[in-house]
Amino acid sequence: MADDILSKPVQYVKSVGPRRAVTLQKLGIHTVRDLLYHFPRHHEDRTRIMTAAAAAAGEVATFSGTVLTGQVLKPRRGLTVTKMALNDGITIFYAVWFNQPFLQKSLTPGTRLFLKGKVEKGFGAVQVLVDEYEVDEGGERLGVGRLVPVYPLTDQVGQRQMRQMVKSALDSAGGACGEFLPPELLRQHGLPQLGRAIADIHFPACLEDAENARRRFVFEELFLFQLLLAMLRQKMIQKNKPHRCRTDGELIRAYLEGLPFRLTNEQERVWREIAGDMESAFPMHRLLQGDVGSGKTVVSILALLKIVEGGMQGALMAPTEILAEQHFAGIEKALRPLGVEAGLLTGSTRRKEREAVLAGVREGAIQVLVGTHTLIQAEVEFDRLGVVVIDEQHRFGVRQRAHLQFKGHLPDILVMTATPIPRTLALTLYGDLDRSVIEELPPGRQPVETHVVLPRALGKVYRLLLDQVRLGRQAYVVCPLVEESEKIDIQAATDMAARLSANELKECRVGLLHGRMRPEEKDRVMAGFRTGETGILVSTTVIEVGVDVPNATVMVIMDADRFGLAQLHQLRGRVGRGGARSYCILVASPKTEEARARLAAMRNTSDGFALAEEDLRLRGPGEFCGTRQSGLPEFKAADIVRDWHELQLAREEALARVADDPRLEKAENRALVKAAKERFQNSGGYIDVG
Ligand code: ADP
Ligand code: MG
Repeated sequence: MADDILSKPVQYVKSVGPRRAVTLQKLGIHTVRDLLYHFPRHHEDRTRIMTAAAAAAGEVATFSGTVLTGQVLKPRRGLTVTKMALNDGITIFYAVWFNQPFLQKSLTPGTRLFLKGKVEKGFGAVQVLVDEYEVDEGGERLGVGRLVPVYPLTDQVGQRQMRQMVKSALDSAGGACGEFLPPELLRQHGLPQLGRAIADIHFPACLEDAENARRRFVFEELFLFQLLLAMLRQKMIQKNKPHRCRTDGELIRAYLEGLPFRLTNEQERVWREIAGDMESAFPMHRLLQGDVGSGKTVVSILALLKIVEGGMQGALMAPTEILAEQHFAGIEKALRPLGVEAGLLTGSTRRKEREAVLAGVREGAIQVLVGTHTLIQAEVEFDRLGVVVIDEQHRFGVRQRAHLQFKGHLPDILVMTATPIPRTLALTLYGDLDRSVIEELPPGRQPVETHVVLPRALGKVYRLLLDQVRLGRQAYVVCPLVEESEKIDIQAATDMAARLSANELKECRVGLLHGRMRPEEKDRVMAGFRTGETGILVSTTVIEVGVDVPNATVMVIMDADRFGLAQLHQLRGRVGRGGARSYCILVASPKTEEARARLAAMRNTSDGFALAEEDLRLRGPGEFCGTRQSGLPEFKAADIVRDWHELQLAREEALARVADDPRLEKAENRALVKAAKERFQNSGGYIDVG
């Protein structure tokens, strides 16, 4: 079977062998197919062959010539110089290699060579310091006189060897690359066949061929990925829910009446979308997206209440304990008057308490369970789970696991994200979900006045803090994120708190919050700040997510250049919530252009979506979402920032296919699914391809 060749270990390729096979593993290359799909980063144009007479000193160029004579010199210990005279048809020039004395044996007079290297001139003679050469045997050339692929490498494989291995793989297995994309797709998008594309992406005749091949692989990759997402979605929505919610009833009305505000039009609109899903026969899979402070939490509480009205249970998962605790505090306060029972379960819930909560959830006495993501790991058994709200913070694989864990219940799933993810990224990360976006903030919000200041201006910053506290306001001071060491973070925050309460802010109450504190301690500090007893809260970045104290008007971020834009925006979103004029002070002496650009973006815009786009542009998708933790698959050909157009096409095609053949049972579709699963089986759990 042709297919078998491609799935064989890469060692099977002639010029690979067992030793190199081990090295290739470091590049993620295990099979022959992996090697063929190890795409060059770009191509170097070495089509032009330079003559020695025309070469200028310092330039790097490709030459050809016939070896006349050769000699090996040893100018000093540890250095050998192999110097050969070559005739390029017009003049004689010299080629020089360092520490490769053995070349003299193989490159005998009369041998025709191509070489690439840097030109030196001295005493009228041209000398090329060779970095690559190739013997011209009249056959196909790989490294000179053509567009030459430049590959991502590890230190034990050189470009030359890589090219040779890829070429062997193409020769022996290229023909086995049978097309699996439907012909009409290729035709419609003007993409080359696989066989042609796999050859062209490595050894193209011209740049246009290389570009067409690249487009094909970008499309192929994104299309297969979107197909998996579409399939996943199809699987999730095709089953009837065991129960379903009816129309809004007492609980929701009572809750809304108790709020000190009315829902904004945007909240109303997304709530209708969510309620519609919950009332339908199929499980909801929806993303609720909205800028920081846009009022997502309120909407999620409506969803929880609606399920309780229907006689079922709801769960809310938060990314950190502090946020879980805060959600719980808010939810409990809102639900208790309505007679709805809520419970909290996190990693630090004590055993006895834990057992009581688990029993309550199992028996149905606890109607709303709030917790961290450990909810999906722990042995939590629900009586009748109806909805899961996931407050997702850069943890993109969570919903799939939630889906698996709670499979038996087929709950509605609502994913909230506080990060205003750009549309392109949302399609990739959340391609399996419907999307509701809260487009505007509640009324009365003022944009937060943002300043970037140097550390030596801290005196002024402290005065601002003091003024605000005297006005009855509160403030956050966030200390730097030192990635290598949580200890240093904590030390910095501790020192800052001590210093402020001893000196500049003597008259205020200064609280301290960091990740290593015991839960009761954290609770106490948070409670103190929430009630307004504490004026200044000094903390490490633990407060990034979701803390809600409307009376806080200043956010000071120390070493702000160390934070990403998304994070800065999240932090800034902690203030400006109460209608009073608010400030965000970014203290930094940025050292790189990129850091300066980030801070400038913060000063100039308060639109989270615009910032997210900028962040994505500045840092690329991997950094943006912290690929490793997020489990976002790494694409080989596609770059979702650059290739957003293809991403959209791929998504439309994938959705159309699933709409036409929901179980993807047609032969053509089965082949696609197989290819997609093979491709993304190592996606770090981002997609369940089973
Ligand atoms: P998000 O979760 O989207 O960041 P929250 O739900 O925490 O936002 O809401 C932010 C703040 O705005 C909270 O103090 C909340 O009480 C308040 N809020 C929510 N909806 C409204 C509204 N419609 N009008 C006024 N304030 C609101
Ligand atoms: Mg929130």
